Amino acid sequence: MGDPNERHDAQDLRDVSDEYAEAMRESALWDQMGKEVQIKIDAWVAQWPEYCRCCGGWGLVKCSQSHGELGREYWSEFCEALPEGVCHRCGYVGMPPWEDEEWETEQGPECSMCWHRAGDDGVPEL
Ligand SMILES: [Zn+2]
Ligand SMILES: [Zn+2]
Repeated sequence: MGDPNERHDAQDLRDVSDEYAEAMRESALWDQMGKEVQIKIDAWVAQWPEYCRCCGGWGLVKCSQSHGELGREYWSEFCEALPEGVCHRCGYVGMPPWEDEEWETEQGPECSMCWHRAGDDGVPEL
């Protein structure tokens, strides 16, 4: 209550530029569908201004590892950029903890504010 540091942190979060959306816009520029996607990105960011800048609101981050001649392996991991209990799409604090079965289905808990689950939705991609 009334902790000045807490307020400062919240302000910082809002001041972060839309890095993820910027990167998506940049890659959209090279595609002929680019304009349409950029409009979608802007609309999405306007709807979810508190989205996680690390995963673009998806709740998942893409990973890849090169295996030389065998090619590159791709997979998704749960984004850990936000503290536990924070929604990566709407920024709501107070999401339920993960249940065992949710680890198995790899969906994670549902946000009680926007009904988002990991992998459901995020900054539009090409
Ligand atoms: Zn995230
Ligand atoms: Zn949410």
